[in-house]
Amino acid sequence: MMPSQVTPKPEETMSLGGSSPATPRRLKGEDEIRRDLAAAYRIIALKGMDDGIYTHISARLADGPSGQKRFLLNSFGLTFDEVTASNLVTVDESGSILDDPYGSGVNAAGFTIHSAVHMARHDAACVLHTHTVAGVATSSVKEGLLPLNQWSAQFHGAIAYHGYEGIALDLEERARIVADLGTLNVMMLRNHGTLVCGQSVAEAVKLALNLERSCRAQVAALSMGLTPDPLPEDLAAHTAQQYARAYERTEASDSDPEWDAILRLIDRQAPGYDI
Ligand SMILES: [Zn+2]
Repeated sequence: MMPSQVTPKPEETMSLGGSSPATPRRLKGEDEIRRDLAAAYRIIALKGMDDGIYTHISARLADGPSGQKRFLLNSFGLTFDEVTASNLVTVDESGSILDDPYGSGVNAAGFTIHSAVHMARHDAACVLHTHTVAGVATSSVKEGLLPLNQWSAQFHGAIAYHGYEGIALDLEERARIVADLGTLNVMMLRNHGTLVCGQSVAEAVKLALNLERSCRAQVAALSMGLTPDPLPEDLAAHTAQQYARAYERTEASDSDPEWDAILRLIDRQAPGYDI
């Protein structure tokens, strides 16, 4: 089905989301969260941003009747293009399984970063972690992401950095990850990859896609042997604010044409995610 409205210009549709809202966004119903999370796995795979069976995208569900925290995670061993709404596993904050329709379990160790972020950041409905070549490359230079273009300007002043400490299984490191992230929604895990938080699954995916474009563009720009020309500080900051305001408008509305377009793309190229 085609969108019923004219798609706004990119400047009006994509942004970082800026500072985190104090009030958690109302969670969608579980069926919709499952559909969106399965779609997130599929689009990350379609864009070549997956890493075999590793890295995760997690989504928070409404608390259980007794106040138990509940999160959705991919079944361990599935590639991202095999994830569907119904084969997602429900876990608690420690990664213990609450519901596992196929009995495949989860990578509890891989959930530790996600759990730490979810428990500290109740405004984060979705936490998306990747190991893309461009993201890892950008996380591996001391300057991190530079404001070299419009894509990267949206992240200006809004990226947290966390130094590498080995595979993140250590409980003490989880506390440092949360402290380094603070109230920001995007983090470079140095020498490792990237992590984004979204007020919705859709927001997390859009941030991740834009961050990936930014990293790829930086890798390309710095590979030409010519002189990089970063945006001046005030212009990068202005652009970041423009994106942030536009993103907040999208999150506050019931309409998200960009996410709808992503769902249609998945329907065409990786159907079956929503079963
Ligand atoms: Zn990782």
